[in-house]
Amino acid sequence: MLTSGKEILTKANRQNYAVGAFNVNNMEQIQAVISAAEQKMAPVILQVTESTIKYAGLFCLSDFITNLAEKSFVPIALHFDHGTTYDLIIQCIRSGFTSVMIDASMFSLDENIKKTKEIVKVAHACGVSVEAELGRVSEAEGPYFNENESEDDAMFTDPTEAETFVNEAGIDSLGVSIGNAHGKYRKVPCLNFERLREIKALVKIPLVLHGASGIAPDDLRLAIRNGINKVNTDTDLKQAFSDGLREIFLANSEECDVRKLGGRAREKMTEVVKEKINICGSTKMAL
Ligand SMILES: [Zn+2]
Repeated sequence: MLTSGKEILTKANRQNYAVGAFNVNNMEQIQAVISAAEQKMAPVILQVTESTIKYAGLFCLSDFITNLAEKSFVPIALHFDHGTTYDLIIQCIRSGFTSVMIDASMFSLDENIKKTKEIVKVAHACGVSVEAELGRVSEAEGPYFNENESEDDAMFTDPTEAETFVNEAGIDSLGVSIGNAHGKYRKVPCLNFERLREIKALVKIPLVLHGASGIAPDDLRLAIRNGINKVNTDTDLKQAFSDGLREIFLANSEECDVRKLGGRAREKMTEVVKEKINICGSTKMAL
């Protein structure tokens, strides 16, 4: 059933597990995530970015996903990931998204609070949940992950600022920066669990880990035990999907049946989503 992000994450926070949030771009990827969630009987979040909306079209995504979600027996939220413009976030809310992220983390704390509050006001009036980010989740291919980790502590989420931010902005979940990054890590990421514990002790609401692809499963489990309730995965899914396409092309470089190509890619991605759901501890949590 189509469910708000808040409802899914509040239960996860109360029972100390995480919900997998999976980035999707096309029909096969959407089916892979929903099929994996149903096989594992797990609540799940499907999320799309601004570039995905440009690629696939807003209504193509929202109509398809909300329709499948309504027919599914597992709780499914449709989330707009890293929204940066008021207009597109409002369009997502109008087209049936049950959760949105306003990412104003590049601005000062005051500006971030101001921009986030504007979204919270509208979203909450429509029953839509809001995620925001404090501290900067960097890019795995950026300089941070080549350099001494301690140099970039300034990008980490500050626990006291997080408390102020959550109280003033009235958000439902908070994306944190604790050594995680988007994309393919070039060295094994080292999460700052102490920082995570300090943040959770002060804010209490569900915390979100962006850039989970490439983080060791044991580190993910530890992060979840210490307060992460939403685990965002994108890169590992793209990898699995494109591995499936490559496998078919390597067997027959002339293959032109898109159902064989897309079908194998979907199978490969479904398996990865199931593994992530296991790590999140959300198996059977839809029951
Ligand atoms: Zn992210």
